[in-house]
Amino acid sequence: MFSYRHAFHAGNHADVLKHTVLISILQYLTQKDTALTVLDTHAGAGLYRLDSEFSETSGEAVDGVQRLFDAKDLAPALQEYVDLIQSFNSGSSHKVYPGSPFIAQHVMQGRDRDRLKLFELHPTDTRTLKANIAQLDAGRQIAVLQEDGFEALKKFLPPPSKRALVLCDPSYELKSDYARMLDMVDDSLKRFPTGVYAVWYPIIPRPEAHDLPRRLKTMAVKAGKSWLHASLTVKSSKLSGPAMGEKRPGLPASGMFVINPPFTLKGDMQKALPQMAELLAQDRNATHALESGGG
Ligand code: SAM
Repeated sequence: MFSYRHAFHAGNHADVLKHTVLISILQYLTQKDTALTVLDTHAGAGLYRLDSEFSETSGEAVDGVQRLFDAKDLAPALQEYVDLIQSFNSGSSHKVYPGSPFIAQHVMQGRDRDRLKLFELHPTDTRTLKANIAQLDAGRQIAVLQEDGFEALKKFLPPPSKRALVLCDPSYELKSDYARMLDMVDDSLKRFPTGVYAVWYPIIPRPEAHDLPRRLKTMAVKAGKSWLHASLTVKSSKLSGPAMGEKRPGLPASGMFVINPPFTLKGDMQKALPQMAELLAQDRNATHALESGGG
């Protein structure tokens, strides 16, 4: 079936961007007591070991989260991210990396009316996710569903709480994921126009990847919704690749497109993104971009 396993990439620069945005959104949404539903359409295994066989094979966290642990004077949103990851580790050890399900659960702690729905299709990752979540003893607050997240989301929109964040973070292993993402957001905006939709995507030399943020922006504007688009580049895509003698080409850049972002997200990212680009740079092409509009 699928060959993508997030364990190989946990804590890399894309996770730093994605999870910093996720935490910033969640912190805003949990300021109100009103119940919140978080739907994570592509949840992964939930927890990762940075010293495992998987992560050591690629070592991507070394050039990601691990560069931030000793950094000084971090922007508030980036510091919140580092502190949250650190809270899963004891002392100065950095062995555990929480994925989006555990990050969300961490921010939602003590909010019994909130709900977290986790969709994961890979049988092994679903098993691991279920076992990891079982340790939390979270009762009805968290549900793990081995279902196609693109499709299953429909059943949960609009949520009873009428407040929801949808995180959509596919591996884009299948080219069809790009079109499915667009269909899913289009459909979701009709079912539940006031939801917050956070979409991660890779910036790679593929037409569908370039088209995705452009199309999401058109969709948001057409629906009269506000949007924010943050991207982080850590190296040139041209220089990477086995042909250039690089052992592990790796992802050069990625973006987060958010529809109906909290108004605080822009300020958070204006401060955090330049630091991410500086601290996670792998060559002189490292850069960032932030644009927003609508509403
Ligand atoms: N969101 C996770 C995080 O931030 O920790 C990482 C998710 S990973 C990038 C993508 C996951 O989606 C993989 O675990 C993969 O098995 C799963 N997946 C692939 N296609 C899926 C689908 N149609 N529905 C649900 N999960 C899917």
